Amino acid sequence: MLTVGCHLSASKGYAAMVRQAMQLDANTFAFFTRNPRGSSAKAENPKDEAHARELLSENGFGPLVAHGAYTMNLCTADEEAREFAASVLADDLRRMAALPGNFYNFHPGSHVGQGVDAGIAYIAQALRKALEPDYPVTVLLETMAGKGSEIGGRFEELRAILDAVGSAKVGVCLDTCHVYDGGYDIVNDLDGVLTEFDRVIGLDRLKALHLNDSRNPFASHKDRHECIGKGSLGVETFRKIVNHPALRGRPMILETPNELPGYAREIALLRRLEAEIY
Ligand SMILES: [Zn+2]
Repeated sequence: MLTVGCHLSASKGYAAMVRQAMQLDANTFAFFTRNPRGSSAKAENPKDEAHARELLSENGFGPLVAHGAYTMNLCTADEEAREFAASVLADDLRRMAALPGNFYNFHPGSHVGQGVDAGIAYIAQALRKALEPDYPVTVLLETMAGKGSEIGGRFEELRAILDAVGSAKVGVCLDTCHVYDGGYDIVNDLDGVLTEFDRVIGLDRLKALHLNDSRNPFASHKDRHECIGKGSLGVETFRKIVNHPALRGRPMILETPNELPGYAREIALLRRLEAEIY
């Protein structure tokens, strides 16, 4: 069975998100660990966390994919801001102990003119410092569209971060909109892109996917998400993705421009596409 879900609001706590996910027929979900455009995090609530853990295991959920704040740029040029971002990462990873065995995904960052190598070094340094060996979390670097000075638009850049961190507890989350916008043609050659991913990074490091259609054409380097089937990727691409043997078992998270009923429809669509193997 497909492990599929969508991005949910964390405002009512963890247990409320699990119940919300179940109403949508999801068996995973994503959530922001703190204000996505700021830095404040909610107070920790051990009772809510315990309740969520219970609901997750009773209802057969796959791994969740938490999302770091968009504003967290580990390789920004300003030293103070960079250190603040690193401290946010460290606090997020510590907090993930509330939900052991899950994933924490984040956008690697933008080097803002310092160069790719300097950016990669800063990101790796922050990860080495934040990721304590006993933390029950796997950190995922998200594939990016390569907008501006974003790092992670090429598989080679993610490989370089993985190598520099040197921990098996770091993997990759593949975002379908981002890779297509970034110049990897998953519409016409999904097999070829996955072969390239395996050659450069290794499919064993691919832990989760973000399922988004794209508002923009191939290799546009734009990063504008669209609802499934309504953008340049199209339904057939998602049929191939949910049925691809190399992607089986990974949590797949929708980050499409939807309210909850739209997410429920897309989850149902993806479950149907999985059943209709041709
Ligand atoms: Zn994404």
